Amino acid sequence: MQQGSVGYVKTKKHEINKKIELKSGKKLGPIQIAYETYGKLNKEKTNAIYVCHALSGGAHAAGINKKTKREGWWNKMIGPGKAIDTEKYYVISSNVLGSCKGTTGPSSTNPATGEPYGTDFPLIKIDDMVKVQKKLIKQKFGIEKLLAVIGGSMGGMQALKWAKKYPNHIQHCIPIATTARSSPQQIAFNEVGRRAILSDPNWNNGQYYNKKAPRNGLALARMIGHITYLSDESMREKFGRNLQNKQKPSFDLETDFEVESYLNYKGKSFVKNFDPNTYLYLTKAIDYFDLTNGGQTELQEAFNHIKDVNFLVIAVSSDWLYPPYQSKEIVRALEANDIEVKYSEIRSSYGHDAFLLEKGQMKHLINSYLSEIKVSDISENNIPLIKKDSSIKEASEKIIKSGQTHLPVVSQNKKIKGIITAWDISKAVAQQHKDLEEIMTKEVITATEDESITSVTKKLEKNNISALPVVNQQKEVIGIITSDIITQLIGKEKPSTEQR
Ligand code: SAM
Repeated sequence: MQQGSVGYVKTKKHEINKKIELKSGKKLGPIQIAYETYGKLNKEKTNAIYVCHALSGGAHAAGINKKTKREGWWNKMIGPGKAIDTEKYYVISSNVLGSCKGTTGPSSTNPATGEPYGTDFPLIKIDDMVKVQKKLIKQKFGIEKLLAVIGGSMGGMQALKWAKKYPNHIQHCIPIATTARSSPQQIAFNEVGRRAILSDPNWNNGQYYNKKAPRNGLALARMIGHITYLSDESMREKFGRNLQNKQKPSFDLETDFEVESYLNYKGKSFVKNFDPNTYLYLTKAIDYFDLTNGGQTELQEAFNHIKDVNFLVIAVSSDWLYPPYQSKEIVRALEANDIEVKYSEIRSSYGHDAFLLEKGQMKHLINSYLSEIKVSDISENNIPLIKKDSSIKEASEKIIKSGQTHLPVVSQNKKIKGIITAWDISKAVAQQHKDLEEIMTKEVITATEDESITSVTKKLEKNNISALPVVNQQKEVIGIITSDIITQLIGKEKPSTEQR
């Protein structure tokens, strides 16, 4: 399908009336959340993808904003036929807590004083941002479970936090160009940015809203940050040693090179739409992000309670701010917990920013990941079941008549109680058992409709069995998936698309 745009969009607001308790123990409220949506929510509410933004982003991720006429920060990736296809998925994008693009943050009015919060705004963590997002999906859309949470950089931290904090409320987690804990280098760059703001004479302890803002400090912070988002190669390609509007260097302290002028321009334009206090608060939230609790726990422990979330971890080959080894660390920790995870590396010279730019590779990775064959695509649905109080004779007759080797044993209301196979029947004959309950396996390994075939194949191999009853949320049997069906229809699935 042709790639298109979601067209003109409007940023909306949702208010959380009740105060929420932050990770710090402080209470904050009411909270306004700015959000946008693209595509259509299906009636089962199962096709929603939450998009989380990085440091400088906002709710406006796709299309053209009606008011500002600006293009969304991930417009290359979200839209009909794009990496996140709005023909299939309902995309929700919101501005994070602490930001300055419509969601409550330091520049918002403090209801207690009627003045902007400034530094009276409480420090926040990635955990708090995610808590607010969870409230938005429940209160505004009535969504219980998101199909996926996706984001790059600080957005990737939110995606990981979603998986850790709300594992039963997301199906897929796609962290991109991110880390499970901010590294000393990342913290160091953030600190330089913060110092630039804090040492601007206009900072005034954060109470500058009716005065001159510390714009120079913020511009400097952005310039430093911007260097870390590019790579040596991309800077060489983009600027070389080209001079800006001159034939030879002026040999004074003025700007000579194109790269200098570019950075100055980036710094100056950034301050027009960004609040310096937000820069301080969000970089702090990034620095505090650490799924190992300050090294007190192993990273794999962060994920050991996660059962049904699948991961696609994406890194960028030339990203030196969030290098691929940090993504691989996440992958290893997930694998150690037997969690289904795919790892892919975008081959790009763009550096960290590649996750905003490499639309072809992103489309390939995300599309193929999200449209992987699911149990519901190939399971058999009209299958014989046997009631738990039936006789062994009845079970064996059913097995012979249906030609099925596996018979799920169910209660009156079709809830799974056990499984019986031809092998169990022969055991019953050999050991002269009478009751079905004596010979059935009670600890049944099951599959769900939205589970991937890779996951089913793993379960079958690990347990040395050849069929899994498919159950719904109420544990009612709705079908069966067998290794025969999998091999017949798709051959043996490659376990992962890893490129490590
Ligand atoms: N050939 C068998 C098969 O294809 O499943 C594997 C042999 S194994 C010894 C059989 C045992 O695994 C039986 O007692 C059967 O009840 C149990 N079994 C089969 N499918 C199962 C499932 N999905 N969950 C739990 N146990 C299962």
